[in-house]
Parts: sequence; structure tokens; C-alpha cells
Amino acid sequence: MRWTRALISTLRDDPQEAEIVSHKLMLRSALIRKLSGGLYTFLPLGLRALRKVERIVREEMNRAGALEILMPALQPSELWEQSGRLAAMGPTMFKLKDRAERLMALGPTHEEVVTDLITREINSYRQLPCTVYQVQTKFRDEIRPRFGLMRAKEFIMKDAYSFDTSLDAADRSYQAMYDAYVRIFQRCGLRAKAVEADTGDIGGKWSHEFMVMAEAGEDGIVECADCSYAANQERAERQLPPAAVTGATPAVQEVSTPGVRTMEQVAAFLKCPPTKLIKTLLYLADGKPVAALVPGDRDVNEHKLKRTLGAKRLELADEATIRQVTGAAVGFAGPVGLTIPIYADQALRGATACFTGANKDDTHLGNVDLARDAQVTEYLDLVIVGAGDTCPRCPGTLRVARGIEVGHVFKLGTKYSEAFQTKYLNEKGQAELMVMGCYGIGVTRTLQAVIEQSHDADGIIWPAAVAPYHVALLLLDPKDAAVTAVAEKLAAELEAIGVEVLLDDREERPGVKFKDADLIGLPFRVVVGAKGLAKGGVEIKARTSKEFQVVPAEQAAARIAELLAPAPQVAPPTGL
Ligand code: ATP
Ligand code: MG
Repeated sequence: MRWTRALISTLRDDPQEAEIVSHKLMLRSALIRKLSGGLYTFLPLGLRALRKVERIVREEMNRAGALEILMPALQPSELWEQSGRLAAMGPTMFKLKDRAERLMALGPTHEEVVTDLITREINSYRQLPCTVYQVQTKFRDEIRPRFGLMRAKEFIMKDAYSFDTSLDAADRSYQAMYDAYVRIFQRCGLRAKAVEADTGDIGGKWSHEFMVMAEAGEDGIVECADCSYAANQERAERQLPPAAVTGATPAVQEVSTPGVRTMEQVAAFLKCPPTKLIKTLLYLADGKPVAALVPGDRDVNEHKLKRTLGAKRLELADEATIRQVTGAAVGFAGPVGLTIPIYADQALRGATACFTGANKDDTHLGNVDLARDAQVTEYLDLVIVGAGDTCPRCPGTLRVARGIEVGHVFKLGTKYSEAFQTKYLNEKGQAELMVMGCYGIGVTRTLQAVIEQSHDADGIIWPAAVAPYHVALLLLDPKDAAVTAVAEKLAAELEAIGVEVLLDDREERPGVKFKDADLIGLPFRVVVGAKGLAKGGVEIKARTSKEFQVVPAEQAAARIAELLAPAPQVAPPTGL
């Protein structure tokens, strides 16, 4: 392909709209263009790379025995009512009406459509197990679309769904997808890591996320320094230190704390460590007020709270509710005397000699013995686990890193097969529910994650497997017929052996071509110029290296093919 025909206009400067490096580089190297917030067009160069990621995904899905299908993006809303998710998806789901005023949705995911399909297509144990997948456009009205393809309103997902006769069989299907994911990310040149994850609105019992470790990642990943424990911070657990032995606490005492509301202010005012404060937060769980208590130096993990309560919606209570429930202004809530359900973090079990809000304006309570003075409904794991906490699996210390979620595998159990009555006849002719799993890869997000993980100050460094082309062939003297002939011959030779070439035939200064070659970051740069040819040949340089080699033009194709010869792309599957 000739640069002059390829619709590539690179940008010299970082576009204002981009915050993270991969987004900047995708715009600068003419891979994508913004239509409006969260909506992007793929230019030819970007689309080539995207197709390569898709191809890897398809090859590995097929290898794992999954069958490709294609479901409509436009879905009738009744399916979502049937699963009970119409409300749970809330404003994230794009909804519209057809001309008959029938409510439709633009699919944010496809559990409903696929379960409905399989309910009709499969009726015997002989047809199971079955895993289907598609590579398709999804729509989500994200609260904050940002970072280019990372969090878009319209994006491409590979979604797969497994159907099995038993939990054991479903575990095998899950493992097959897990292993395929390991291979996919490895083949894309990514360093990805599987971590334990929350199951969110999709539901289900168990899940792993595949995370690309990068500072720009939106997810916090909690990892143990000593063992293999790794979990999304939304889900991460910790081991509790042994409870401190304390003596009897004198009776509760009111303390006047005018205008002192935040934990820091209270701790400073009362001259006590934040660990001796009981932080009380009021939430509305499916509209009903509940109190969550955590130690004063910790924050509530709302994902855990929502999951443990089995709530569809969870939000912080508004000022009016707080006033109504506690009788006080925001900042003075406490568990003593509250009549709503109270959930306390396990670390507060046996807490004595503590301070907490008094449910009275400008007042706190001291000498609180939680078990004695309040009606705790249940002790749960409620805090956001962070750096320095103890690993739940070993005595090691936890640390926190950032990650980009590129894939997610779920064990769904029978949540959807119950809702859709997805049954098969077993060997005895009895009807049983199928056991399901679902598996997503953000294909467009994966492509951008490659760049986030593989770039330098000059531009992208494409792993060969997903590079838009393999070689940037820089023709330095496009007006010189002889030099042009050498470059064109080399391009043709390379293309004949399957090496993809972008021939920079622009009438530009060499400096511009070198800069652009680094920016778009193809694995190899080959320079063909009058001076070089006179001195002995063409220059070959890998994007990853500063060194180049000079090779006679007629040997160049063979040398490049050698350099590109892929290392074995697939490592043996790893276990959980
Ligand atoms: P997130 O937590 O990032 O919002 P999610 O957990 O809602 O993602 P899933 O429903 O698990 O996402 O979707 C499967 C995959 O689709 C994710 O692992 C991610 O790679 C990708 N994905 C999800 N939302 C978006 C989006 N708005 N833009 C691009 N890719 C997305
Ligand atoms: Mg997810």
C-alpha cells in the first residue's frame, strides 16, 4: 500500500481531547477519528489492526470449540423484562421505540437474546455442551465515556455463552474459555493478568477479569506480594488482624462537637486515632435506608455492600433521608439508637471505647461499645481493601496496582436459564435447567490497551501480530526513477511472501518520514534512498531497536522475512 493512497494524515501535536497516551497516539497516528463523545470512526490503518485482533480472537474461540453466530444489536425490551434486568441496567441501556411504539433496546450485552435462542434450539443432552460466540457492536450509555476506545458508547465486543448439563461440565467450559483468553492476550502481545472479580449486574457466582496492567487503567487491582492472590479492588478481601483485647468500657458519653463532621475533623477534635472512630454511612438499598459502619480510617466498598445485600440499586442516602432517619444533619450519624438495619464491617466486631456520631446535631458519642450499645444486624466484609492489608490467602501483604479490564469470564449458574426456562432432556428423559457461563472481550479496548502497554516517546511500538502493516518502506527519493524502482520491487517481493508493506512514497523530507514511521510504529522500517544504495543497499531497523543493518536491496526481502519469522505464538494453557 502506498502512503499517498492510504488516508493517513498524522498529527504532529497531542490532540486536546485526549488524556491518556494510547488515545493520543491513536489520534496522532491516524488510526481513529472522533465523531462525538464515545463514538469513533476507524480509519484504514486502525481498522487493519482491529481486524487482526478480531482474527486472533476468532481463531482461539474456534480452537476452543466455540461456534460463531451473529445476533441482532437491536433487541425487544420484553426479553429484558423476562430476565428482570430492564431496571438493573437503568440509563446505561439505550432504549428506543419502533413505529408500532414497541420498546426496543440497543444491546449492551446479549445474555437475554442468546438464552432465548438456545431455549428454542437445544432440547437434548446430546446437543450439550454448547458454546456460541459473536464479534459484535455493543451500545452503552456510559456515565463518562472517555479515553477513546477504552470507554466508548459504541464498541466491539466478543461475547461468548456456554450451556452445559451440570456445574462440573460448566466448569470445564469456563476453563476452556479462560485458557483461550490467556492465549488471545498473549498473541496480541499483551501482558495480561487474570484477577478475581465482582459479578456486577450480569449476576452469577464467580468471575475472573483479564487485566492489562497499566497506570492509565480505571480499575484498582489488589495483589499479594507473596502468593498468587490477585483481585479487583471492587471484590478484594483481607485477613483481619486478631481483635485487640480491651477492658470494660464505661457508659456512653455525649461530647459536644460543633460543626465537626468529617472523620479527619472528628479525629483531630477528639484527639483520637481514626481507628477509634466508627464511620456511619447511610444508604438507600432498593429505596430502603440501611446503615453501613466501617472503621474511621476505611471506606465502604459499595460493590461488596450491594452484592451482600442482594440489592438491585444502592445509593448514598440524601440529606432529607439522613435527617429523617437520624434526626440530625449530615455528619452526625451513628449506630446507637438507630432502628434501620445496621451492617458493620467485621473489623468492628468487639469494638469498644469508640467514638461515633450521636444522631444529634453537633454531637458525638464516646465510650461506645458497639455490641453493647447498638443493634448490629450483621457483621460483613465491607471495606475497600488497600495497600498494607493482609492477604486473605496467606500472611503476605497486599499492594494495589492499576489495570485495564480487557476481558471478563463469568460462571452464571442457572440465573438466566431459570428466567427463560432453558431446559434440556437428560438421559432419563427428564427436563433439567442448563448451566451457563458468559465470556466477554472488549475487542476495541484490547486494541487500545496494546498501545497503552507498548509505546515510547516517539510513538506506537506494534507487536507484529496486530500491526496494521509489518514494514514501513521509506522511499527517500520519490522523484528518482531508479530508486523508486528499487523500492517498488522490494515492496512487491515482500508482498509476494505475505509481508505487509506501507510504502512511504510522499514527497516529504526524510525527517518527516522518519518521525511518522516511529509514530505509527510498524515493527520494521526499511529505508531506500539514493545515498544508501550507492553505499551498498537498504537500511533495515526494528522499531524496538536503535541499531540498523544495511543489506543489499536484492537480499532485503529474505532478511526481513527472517526477522519477522514469528516466535511460537501460543504458550501452553495455564490453570486457574
Ligand atoms: P467496565 O467495568 O469497564 O465498565 P464491564 O464490566 O461493564 O466493564 P463487561 O460487561 O464485563 O464490562 O463487558 C465485557 C468487556 O467489554 C469488558 O471486559 C471490556 O473489555 C469491554 N467493555 C465494557 N464496556 C466498555 C466500553 N464502554 N467501551 C469499550 N469497551 C468496553
Ligand atoms: Mg466486567
